[in-house]
Formats: sequence, C-alpha cells, structure tokens
Amino acid sequence: MTSDVSPTVLRLLREELVTISRRAYERGLVPGLSGNNSLRVPGTDLVLIKATACCQGDMTVQDTVLVTTSGDVLDPGRKPSKEWQFHLGIYRERPEIGGVAHLHPPYSVAFSVAGRVPKLVNAAARGHLRELGMVDLMPAGSIELAHAIIHEFENPEVHGVLMREHGTVTIGPDLRTAYHRTEYLEDNARIAYLAAQIAGVRPEDIQLAVDVDPLAEVNDG
Ligand SMILES: [Zn+2]
Repeated sequence: MTSDVSPTVLRLLREELVTISRRAYERGLVPGLSGNNSLRVPGTDLVLIKATACCQGDMTVQDTVLVTTSGDVLDPGRKPSKEWQFHLGIYRERPEIGGVAHLHPPYSVAFSVAGRVPKLVNAAARGHLRELGMVDLMPAGSIELAHAIIHEFENPEVHGVLMREHGTVTIGPDLRTAYHRTEYLEDNARIAYLAAQIAGVRPEDIQLAVDVDPLAEVNDG
C-alpha cells in the first residue's frame, strides 16, 4: 500500500505538515506540546499526523508519523499523537476530507470555557466556516471524545468544532484549507469578543447587519 506512494510525494507531504504546524505555533494558536494536525495522502487511506509529545514550533519531518486510517503505524519506532482517534475517524467517515487541524486558539477556547459557540460575526468567517459545532469536555484521546467530534461533522455545513475547555478542530479538502479555517475561527472569536465589548452587550446579543438584511451579503460582488 505504501509502495504505491512515491517517496518524493511523501516527503513533500511531511514537509507540508511541518510547515503548517510551525505556522500555527508561531501565530500563537497552540501552546507547549498541545494540538495535532494531520493530512491524508491524496487518493489513499494513509494519513500523516504529528508525533506524540512534540512541540509544533520545533517540529521536523522526524516528528511526522504515517498511519493507516485504521490506526496501523507504518513508520517503525514513531508514535502518533494520543488524539489520533478523531483524526482517523473523520478520514474514515468523510472520504473528501484531506486535512484536520486541532489547535488551542485562546479566544475560541475562551468561548468554549464559557460554554458558548461564537456567532459568525464577519462575512469571511461565515463564508469559510459555514456553521460551528461544540462538544463537551471529555478526556483528550478518548474514544468518547472522538465519537462526539465525528458526530458534529456529520452535518456537512459544519467546518469547525469547539472542544469545551480544550481546543478546536477544523477540517477541509487539504490541511492548508483546514488550517486557514482555524485562523478564521479564531479571528471571528476575537472580533465577536471585541464587538461585544464595544457595543456593551453579551457576544450572543450582538446585532448583525446580515440578520437584518440577509440579502446584503448574498448580493455583494
Ligand atoms: Zn488537544
């Protein structure tokens, strides 16, 4: 199965996983050893995922682990992140998904701590995220958490999920798109928080122009 994948392609994909993970750390979207991103080797049931106990900011291709979507490790001596279950479950359930980003961005996690899903308050976030889901607090790496996350993504409109008191998951046709959706998710959460401060209301009570006139956004450009 792995013999079908060219070593050059595999090398480039490992480098892509490292590039995106380092960017996430440098942008302050994940602290310490937390979070884990993954990507599907296109057209296969193979996945590259971050190794356990490594900082995304220091990641190298040695910290990427090739696994099958059923969980077999194909890089001898390497151990995938303990949160592999929900990554692989998403790839098994959704053949069109090519990338999964799991990060701990602070404004988004703050909303999850408050038990609230932020409104999508800007047009870019609405376009890139469509809908958001949220799952309860459960042990990281548990099968219960994996099932809950996979269940939220059964709605094809949901592109991002908040994990209560933990982090976020975004998905996409490739890892770069999935990662950009985390940037939009966090940007939206920060703007929703700031807008609520400016307006002196709770974030869920922000009055949106698009709610008053839904066609204004549709007709724009
Ligand atoms: Zn996590």
